[in-house]
Amino acid sequence: MKKKPIRENYLVFGSPLIEDEVIEEVVDTIKSCWIGTGPRVNQFENMISEYKDIKHAMALNSCTAGLHLALLAIGINPGDEVITTPMTFCATANSIVHAGGVPVFADVEKDTMNIDPEEIEKKITNKTKVIIPVHFAGRPCNMDAIMKIAERHRLKVIEDCAHAIETTYKGKKAGTFGDIGCFSFYVTKNIITGEGGMAITDNDEYATKIKILGLHGMSKDAWKRFSDDGYKHYQVIYPGYKYNMTDLQAAIGLKQFPLVEKYSKRRKEIWDQYNQAFLNLPVTIPAEEEENTRHALHLYTLFVDIEKANMSRDEFLMALHKENIGTGVHYIALHLHPYYRSRYGYKRGDFPNAEYISDRTVSLPLSPKLTDSDVQDVIRAVKKVLK
Ligand SMILES: *Cc1c(COP(=O)(O)O)cnc(C)c1O
Repeated sequence: MKKKPIRENYLVFGSPLIEDEVIEEVVDTIKSCWIGTGPRVNQFENMISEYKDIKHAMALNSCTAGLHLALLAIGINPGDEVITTPMTFCATANSIVHAGGVPVFADVEKDTMNIDPEEIEKKITNKTKVIIPVHFAGRPCNMDAIMKIAERHRLKVIEDCAHAIETTYKGKKAGTFGDIGCFSFYVTKNIITGEGGMAITDNDEYATKIKILGLHGMSKDAWKRFSDDGYKHYQVIYPGYKYNMTDLQAAIGLKQFPLVEKYSKRRKEIWDQYNQAFLNLPVTIPAEEEENTRHALHLYTLFVDIEKANMSRDEFLMALHKENIGTGVHYIALHLHPYYRSRYGYKRGDFPNAEYISDRTVSLPLSPKLTDSDVQDVIRAVKKVLK
């Protein structure tokens, strides 16, 4: 006889909470006919630059676009090396390849899952140009150590802040340590615009380059096309890209972003309930938040103790799937993916900590959309599966 699953309907991993005020703003935007890039994009940029207390915020259609343009703004020559973590989404390393650089991985710390500054130092050569730390799951990297290394070796730093909108480190906001910070508003992130991203910087030259490269390489004045100031000719000064955010996306962001603290509070409640519930199971719960930092609580990750549980990570997530609980895997270490193996010769054994995580990690639903009974379903299902 087939046993009944914990839930009747499927709990989708990463499904966002979309409130009426967001929907109303989108409808107003459509009615305004400014559905491309226009005044709402500008407002959303101002909202983010104010929150981050930084001079420039450039809205784009993704964080991936931001990382690509950040590298181009800094200037990558063919063969320049960019050091990053293998424990990240593929976009981080793909953008290095797109910019003409060589991705060089440095292993992570097993508990924080963040890039290990000592490992960065070991990978530096005379071709190294940039370091891209990723604030994994919303936990800040060791920015003191990373910025010291960057200064000592005259390297640029681009922070991948896709998980880290709320993150702070010693009172300073993520994305403001390095030369450029890149954020994502993809549908599963803490704040969403559906698809969308933002690059932030205090550097005027980088800001101008990112703006121009993000819109066909047209001179800065081309942005004035998005106002009612009258017709202006534009000049193409680079073969740029089509990376602009639209007002439809910005409309979502404008009404989502003010809810950031409310959502953060809900994530923390769910986080604490999970921590409490999983203490005595054959899993490792996330490392504690470090002192004098703020964790953005983007991903709640468990490591399955595959020996004690006598179960692989994949068996664990398949079993949760059968209970109608959706999960995520963040991530299969990037150096184990076919492209990175075959193009750069990476292999299993190269980054033991990233591989340890890669074999064991599972992310549980953490959206502020979850009800208390959803959270209880996840907890009951995890306990049932690990019995
Ligand atoms: C989601 C994500 C990205 C890419 O963001 P998009 O906005 O989807 O391009 C980059 N890096 C990390 C770590 C991510 O999680």
